[in-house]
Amino acid sequence: MPNPVSYLPEQKQKRQPPEHKAVPGVKHLIAIASGKGGVGKSTTTTNLALALASTGARVGILDADLYGPSQPRMLGLKGMPDSPDGKILEPMIGHGIQTMSIGFLVDEEAPIIWRGPMITQALTRLMYETRWDNLDYLLVDMPPGTGDIHLTMAQRMPVSGAVIVTTPQDIALLDARKGLRMFEKVNVPVLGIIENMSIHICSDCGHQEHIFGHGGAQRMATEAGTVLLGELPLDLRIRTGSDIGEPIMAAEPGGQIATAYKTIASQLTQILAESPSAGRGVNEPTLPAIVMD
Ligand code: ADP
Repeated sequence: MPNPVSYLPEQKQKRQPPEHKAVPGVKHLIAIASGKGGVGKSTTTTNLALALASTGARVGILDADLYGPSQPRMLGLKGMPDSPDGKILEPMIGHGIQTMSIGFLVDEEAPIIWRGPMITQALTRLMYETRWDNLDYLLVDMPPGTGDIHLTMAQRMPVSGAVIVTTPQDIALLDARKGLRMFEKVNVPVLGIIENMSIHICSDCGHQEHIFGHGGAQRMATEAGTVLLGELPLDLRIRTGSDIGEPIMAAEPGGQIATAYKTIASQLTQILAESPSAGRGVNEPTLPAIVMD
């Protein structure tokens, strides 16, 4: 029997260089991540951005899901960003949110086939070569999993913290846990967990059902010493709104679902205000991180 460990690349133990360069125009950089794709991370990012903006904060979204950008569609944005000097891009504005996405620069249906270094470079350019205008929060819609983009963010950018989005089923929680541990390893504080598609309320009869199970995200938060920021329902209006570029937070700002997003937003801002990395601009590593590169 071959030893499976011998197939893994050798791990190098490195001390991270403190080279976290501040992002001009941005106070708090928050990574919104998930272990798996399809759990509603992008949808949650969009609505959370709008919920934060509803408190009067200035909010932006950087779509770092370079292989599958979805923010242009979710915010109903089309066209190319302006660039008066041919280098720095003006963010596009969707429902008041300053937004930058590779989706503005390439055809929606064109596949992006890039190796790691190109991805790193593209992320760095989108982050630092966008003219963010005095943002309180820049939410970064991360790709699923734990790859190059996560490492680049953690090692080079002053991330105030990460929020993990998961659905309640075991298989999603398993991957969410990996995502959480990755942020811990690279010394990015996990600000909390959001359980999406937590409960289904039948639009006909009002019957409530935990289709994907219940309580897993809370358990995971407790185990990891972080908090459950909130639970969001599985609701048709969330899906249709995202598809047509009219997020539920914009379509029904006074509704019950909007209230759930706003509660999460207010918890998040409070945690962020109390977090030692908040407003520091630099996410200083406290432990050597194990990275493979
Ligand atoms: P991810 O970013 O994790 O890949 P998306 O945000 O693209 O996931 O969501 C995947 C699909 O699920 C989309 O069609 C979206 O509209 C839908 N969706 C996300 N959250 C919900 C929800 N709470 N209720 C209903 N549909 C949702």
